[in-house]
Formats: sequence, structure tokens, C-alpha cells
Amino acid sequence: MDKQPNSPRERAAAQTGFARLDGEPFPAFEAGWVWLVGAGPGAPGLMSLLCYHALQSSDVVVYDALVNPGILNWVRPGTELEYAGKRGGKPSAQQRDISLRLIELAQAGKRVLRLKGGDPFMFGRGGEECQHLVKAGIPFRIVPGITAGIGGLAYAGLPSTHRDTNHSVIFLTGHDASGKMPANVNWQAIATASPVIVMYMAVKNLREIAKALIAGGRAPSDPVTIISNATLPQQSVAQTTLGEAKAFLDHDEFATPAIVVLGRIVEWRSILDWYRGPLRENPIG
Ligand code: SAH
Repeated sequence: MDKQPNSPRERAAAQTGFARLDGEPFPAFEAGWVWLVGAGPGAPGLMSLLCYHALQSSDVVVYDALVNPGILNWVRPGTELEYAGKRGGKPSAQQRDISLRLIELAQAGKRVLRLKGGDPFMFGRGGEECQHLVKAGIPFRIVPGITAGIGGLAYAGLPSTHRDTNHSVIFLTGHDASGKMPANVNWQAIATASPVIVMYMAVKNLREIAKALIAGGRAPSDPVTIISNATLPQQSVAQTTLGEAKAFLDHDEFATPAIVVLGRIVEWRSILDWYRGPLRENPIG
């Protein structure tokens, strides 16, 4: 009779036919565990090997609105898919309910893949969900993902840092839990603290944010780049300035989700804009 696999490594080897690196099997996705995984900014090709492995070995995937549906095609047949999105217009699950659902599924002995867009800890409330798991004694693993505020910029030909333009980057959210411009961000201090500011969820409050940054001493002439649907074939890039942002938003249409980038790194785009033409034809990335 075959020996039953005992160690996590043996169980991993028995459980998945996924490729091994240097003879090492991928880590076992154990029953009753939650894996909190970043799916990347959109293009399925930007998911990590551990994300792919998790898609192939989970029993249920609880996913957010920003996860590209193309990524969900990579699950094994029979995997349950549960939507837990919270985007404008669509029915929204409360954060607490999502955490409770994860706990319930794990306690039922499922291998629970909590799949989030980008990186789970970058404005993704991954920390909050983990806190609930810790409280409930549920074992978990975090798989980081490529965040939209870095990967999205790369697909638009904007290096997040470049020695000639910036030695620092600020990431911020334009939204607090109530949808307002976050009051606990020190806009005055941030305005001049870094040549590049990358803003998530900032479109709705951009007029107000631009005003606060200009009041804090940021030049109205500083370029603003809005990258919509980053890394996807329908990606689009719009440009304005901080001072013109309000008029731009009043008159121009652009799609969401969108990342807003403030700063002169956009100047590199004129030579680094690589994601175009036939390169956009493959939805994998
Ligand atoms: N955890 C995610 C961010 C979640 S907040 C990450 O690390 O990327 C949601 C915001 O992310 C959106 O409002 C938008 O600002 C940004 N975003 C996510 N995916 C995007 C995409 N494909 N293109 C542009 N912006 C995106």
C-alpha cells in the first residue's frame, strides 16, 4: 500500500500537479485555512505563482469587484465562487460580513481563497480581515500581489521612481470609510513632501484633493496622469495638471477604476510608453 502523505510538504506534493521549482512542491493549501491573495492589477499574467497555485487548490474563492473575471477562469472545475465586492452601484457586502463569511467557510473545513485586486494589504482592507481571522483562531497565509499603483504605472510607461525625477513616492487613498476625502491625511505636509504622489480611489474627490495640495504649496502646473483600467487591453491614459484638474473632471470622461499620479514622472511616458498596438491584443497581459 502507498504511504500516506504526512508532512505539509508531502501533502502539497500529493495534492497538486502544479510545477515544482528545484524539486520543491508548492506549499500545501490545508483545509480550514484562509489564503489572502493579491491577484494583481488586472492582467491575469501578472498574478504570482502562489496565486495561481491557490486558484488551483482552493475549495472556495471569495473575490472582490476589482478581480479581473479572466483570473477566475483559472480555478479548478467545481470550485465555488463567491462575490464579495463593494463597488459603487453594485450590492455591497459589509466588511464585517465578509470577515465572518471567511471564518464560517474556514470553520466548515474549506480551503478558502480570499482574492483581492492588486495587493491585499494596499488599500485592500486585508489587514482588517486578518485581524478577524486571528481573533477567531483561523490559520492564514498572505500572498502579496502587484499593486495597481506600481504595476499600473509600469503599463502606462511611468517608472514609479527614476533617479532624475524622484527619490520617494507617496501612496494615498482619496477616500475614507465614508467616501469623503480622508481627514486624517496631513494634506499640507504631503503637498510638498514627495515629487510623486500616487492616489488610489481618488477620482471622486480629486477636485477637493487638488485644492488641498495647491493650498499646501504644490505647483498648479504639476502634471496629473489618470490611468484607467491599467494593465488591461482597454487601458487608457489621460493627462492634465493639478490646477486644471477641476475643469478637466467637469468636461472629460474617463473610465474607472483609475489611478491618479501626480508628478513629473509622466514625462518618461513619451519614450517609455510600450503597452500599445499588438501588445494589447493578448488579454493575459
Ligand atoms: N488592493 C488594490 C487597491 C484597492 S483600492 C491594489 O493594490 O491595487 C481600489 C483602487 O485601486 C481603485 O479605486 C483604483 O484607484 C485602483 N485600481 C485597482 N485596479 C486598477 C486598475 N486596473 N487600473 C487603475 N486603477 C486601479
